[in-house]
Amino acid sequence: MNGYNPLMANYAKDEAICLRVINFSETSQVVTLFARQAGLLALLAKGSRKMAKAGAFTLGAPIDQLARGEVVYIPPRGIAELGTLTAWDLMDYQPAMRKSLPAFYSGQIICEMIMALLSGQEPHTQLYDELAPGLAALGGSQTQRLFLSIAKSILIAAGYQPQLENCLVCQTPVRPGGPVNFCPQRGGVCCINCPAEAKTIRVDGGVLLALARLPLPNALLAAPPSKPADAPAMRAAATVLIAAIETASDRGLKARWAVDALFGKTKVL
Ligand SMILES: [Zn+2]
Repeated sequence: MNGYNPLMANYAKDEAICLRVINFSETSQVVTLFARQAGLLALLAKGSRKMAKAGAFTLGAPIDQLARGEVVYIPPRGIAELGTLTAWDLMDYQPAMRKSLPAFYSGQIICEMIMALLSGQEPHTQLYDELAPGLAALGGSQTQRLFLSIAKSILIAAGYQPQLENCLVCQTPVRPGGPVNFCPQRGGVCCINCPAEAKTIRVDGGVLLALARLPLPNALLAAPPSKPADAPAMRAAATVLIAAIETASDRGLKARWAVDALFGKTKVL
């Protein structure tokens, strides 16, 4: 790497969002990062909770979930190994998200979705470039739409873009104002007269069409819709995306309860 001593050639530099933090020993952390170039990385942050001298932490500060920073690390040697984080320069602590509980919860579900669907050390730069501005804007006026847009971006990055505009069986176009079945196993929509699986979610066709047209975070933030979205429709869209992610990853999301905080009937925003 440019500017690096060749003796330090095994060091890598990247930008990353912290998805999970586990305290390890009295002074360290094990962090799971979503790095722009390296993808998912599990690193030991040695001494990250230790004061190197009075008032100064070894890595600047302990690392928090959802924070974004520049990292220098020694990559893991094997699949089950941890790499070593040697530097963390905080770029964005996501202050807007941390001021709103629903936004913070949605950030937590997003972390879990990424860890559930992406596998280690594969670059997903497009997703990273949608995610970084998307997370930074959670807590603002588009929080619910952004959450849906980020969840959709994660599915697309993982190769599970849901098919929402035509019935997967008979190709009939979905129309607003009529019920359809979303089939998580098939990753798309079926009209109610076509054979469906046992586990389907019945929604209005308009919800799926709106979800299909929902822009990814950068485009959404560049031209935010001025109309507030229909709350039950957004909740239905969230249910569809979460079912798609849980089915594709074959695991339940622990933080899915947080959807109630974000989309619940009680007004929480
Ligand atoms: Zn059909």
